[in-house]
Amino acid sequence: MNAQKAQALTAVDRYQDLLCEVSDKLWDHPEIGFHESYAAELYCSTLNELGFQVEKNLAGIPTAFSGSYGEGGPVIGFLGEFDALPELSQQDGALSRCPVQEGAPGHGCGHNLLGVGSLAAALAVKEYLQNNNLPGTVKFFGCPAEEGGSGKGFMARSGVFQNVDIAFSWHPGEVNSVSTEGTMSNYQICYHFHGISSHAAMAPELGRSALDALELMNIGVQFLREHVPTDTRIHYAITNTGGSAPGTVQPYAEAVYLLRAVHPEQLIDLYERVNQIAKGAAMMTGTTVEIEFIKACSNVLINSELNCVMQKNLEEVPPTEFDEADLQLAREYQKTFSKGKTYYDTLVDEVTNSNLKTELQAKADEPIHAGVMPLAQERQGFVSSDVGDVSWNCPVAQINGATMPAGVAMHSWQMVAVGKTPMAKKGMLHAAKVMAASAIDALEDPSVVQRAKEELQRRTGGKPYRSPIPPEVQPKLP
Ligand SMILES: [Zn+2]
Ligand SMILES: [Zn+2]
Repeated sequence: MNAQKAQALTAVDRYQDLLCEVSDKLWDHPEIGFHESYAAELYCSTLNELGFQVEKNLAGIPTAFSGSYGEGGPVIGFLGEFDALPELSQQDGALSRCPVQEGAPGHGCGHNLLGVGSLAAALAVKEYLQNNNLPGTVKFFGCPAEEGGSGKGFMARSGVFQNVDIAFSWHPGEVNSVSTEGTMSNYQICYHFHGISSHAAMAPELGRSALDALELMNIGVQFLREHVPTDTRIHYAITNTGGSAPGTVQPYAEAVYLLRAVHPEQLIDLYERVNQIAKGAAMMTGTTVEIEFIKACSNVLINSELNCVMQKNLEEVPPTEFDEADLQLAREYQKTFSKGKTYYDTLVDEVTNSNLKTELQAKADEPIHAGVMPLAQERQGFVSSDVGDVSWNCPVAQINGATMPAGVAMHSWQMVAVGKTPMAKKGMLHAAKVMAASAIDALEDPSVVQRAKEELQRRTGGKPYRSPIPPEVQPKLP
């Protein structure tokens, strides 16, 4: 690592008190998607203080913003998320499920760390540009509502990422690895059925049951499952059953559907078929259905060029030093869940070099995985992320950073409970350095950006980005 790069990375250590304080404050004020006013305020004032130029209200979303530094190209983006999850309130450091406030949100996906890690990386790159008097722009993007809101999808639709050359992000987790997993595109739709209420015994002939319609829709969709592409996923939740009185014909019922397929185009057909089933169910029951498109996201396009740069830096940046207290705490948490097949195990399964595989298998029981996983083969996963829409606009690479006890499940109370611990913060600062070092490589060698863009061009087949969110659909703002 050259001296200029090493010097820039020291910014992460020099500002670590401030960075950890922001992360803790976010953990203390968990807010769900599009409600992140405390987080947006805190980030914007911190960015300001640190010398970034803040732009608020991106895409008309009050909690979407950016902080920029520098002039000219390349424009390097860091993606920050900060939304929490509903009903995951949990006390800091507690070893059993115990909410701070019953029913309140909590940081079950580690987004208090995610956003700050990206901010720390942006800060180090800013120092690099400043110290070396170089052209180039670094931009931190405050991206709301990753969990179920596709905040980046709405931002991408309004062109926020259009002039970004490359972007980086990360996710807190149980390993240090470059993400080589493609995600799926999705649509989220709410089906509202409207019927007529009446006394179910005295005047059943006058009632038209919205709940019946909803049940018939769900049955229709179960039969549809056999006749869709194998890699399609259809999930649903009944979000309103129409009431708790069986003696009243339910005048209203609703379900939220989540449709997934690899390519956004495959969803157009699937969506139409599910809509036809909903309309058929309404017709059968003499009710009406209102179809509300909530949000959508595109699949993530992997960028091998940037992934190789990230892998090199994962191996070069000195590893996180977890001390005995971190390891002991991790062991305590491991006692609170049964360890099934973990993400670590999945990555080890894919290692083809048998010596390396044996070596990694021997470390499977470590309380925290501090080592670096080898660069995995690219594969198609089944989850979705709104990073997908960014990745159709500019090359994007992401890493996973080890911030928690090995085997902890995402979106669990344990994940919330460890979000303020020293192990989480150490992992966050490490991920920040790896991302910053990768961005600095791209600044030092412009051919990296060039090749990454050529790869994106190949992967999209030259097709311009088309938002999967219809133009009339607006984000579900409070
Ligand atoms: Zn999540
Ligand atoms: Zn997440």
